[in-house]
Amino acid sequence: MSDVLTSMAYERARSVPEAIVLLAEGGEDARPISGGQSLVPMMNLGLAAPAFLVDVSAIPGLRSVGVEGDHLVIGAAVTHAELTSDPVIAEHAPLLARAAAHIGSQRIRNRGTIGGSVAHGDAAAELPVSCHVLDADYQVESRAGAEWRPARAFSLGYYQTDLAPGELVTAVRVPLRPGHGWGFQEYSRRSGDFALASAAAGVALDGGRISSVAIGVTGAADRPLRLDAVERRLTGLTVEEGVRSITGLAGELDVADDPYCAASERARLIEAMAVRAVREACADARRDH
Ligand SMILES: Cc1cc2nc3c(=O)[nH]c(=O)nc-3n(C[C@H](O)[C@H](O)[C@H](O)COP(=O)(O)OP(=O)(O)OC[C@H]3O[C@@H](n4cnc5c(N)ncnc54)[C@H](O)[C@@H]3O)c2cc1C
Repeated sequence: MSDVLTSMAYERARSVPEAIVLLAEGGEDARPISGGQSLVPMMNLGLAAPAFLVDVSAIPGLRSVGVEGDHLVIGAAVTHAELTSDPVIAEHAPLLARAAAHIGSQRIRNRGTIGGSVAHGDAAAELPVSCHVLDADYQVESRAGAEWRPARAFSLGYYQTDLAPGELVTAVRVPLRPGHGWGFQEYSRRSGDFALASAAAGVALDGGRISSVAIGVTGAADRPLRLDAVERRLTGLTVEEGVRSITGLAGELDVADDPYCAASERARLIEAMAVRAVREACADARRDH
């Protein structure tokens, strides 16, 4: 066993203030661990070697889900499996339930958490792109206090997020959007793999026309990408006109080749997922909410 592993310390925090003190004491060498479904594989591969792990998965305050004013507030340690089964999330943020159902396998979903996913910053992950589309905010707490940071500015690149040592994500806040419909679609080579391309969409209809739309995709960049120009184009169109206007999106994307997929193939997949997600969201919006 290496020196790094033999010298690693572990503490299970019982409250957010205790976790913050432990993280502050551990300095740059301390890392929060929640579900461990990304951090432990990275440690196994030698890509991360924290000297001190602060386990935040059992803090009661991080496991709650509830409506506060005009937001749904989800504790950071709520698991992917809980996102898929919680009736309050099904009512107020069904996009998160649909997106979480695509993550890995049931075993991963039972342990992985929403806070861990957004902090980890995997560009292909389902929850960060959904949070972009939902205009969610993340609550970040540290010795300096607590603040809400917008999801759209939180992802800074591959596995890079707007988090400094000592900072803990404690909640995700989603604005309530009654009357909106939601869609999430992804393509992966095998069930449970990370997606080569995915799309999340939210739509409101007024008299058969799209009155409000949000679309986000993965696979196009080093972070989730919100399709602002496409959203502007779709607003005011009928559903069929809107779907037609997404055709050609592949040619507008600046996608790079990579070992898993040629750029042109990935761009076509992203376009196809965006079309399907918008169709799904429009069908959902037509249902009686
Ligand atoms: C086989 C396999 C398949 C997978 N497939 C997918 C997939 O298809 N889609 C997908 O999105 N993910 C996938 N994952 C990853 C999984 O979803 C993780 O659960 C998720 O990425 C991280 O959540 P976690 O709670 O496990 O975080 P952890 O592994 O505990 O932590 C991940 C990172 O976030 C930090 N962190 C954790 N919690 C907090 C917090 N509250 N505040 C600040 N920082 C924190 C940690 O320090 C670490 O840097 C897969 C994992 C495996 C092993």
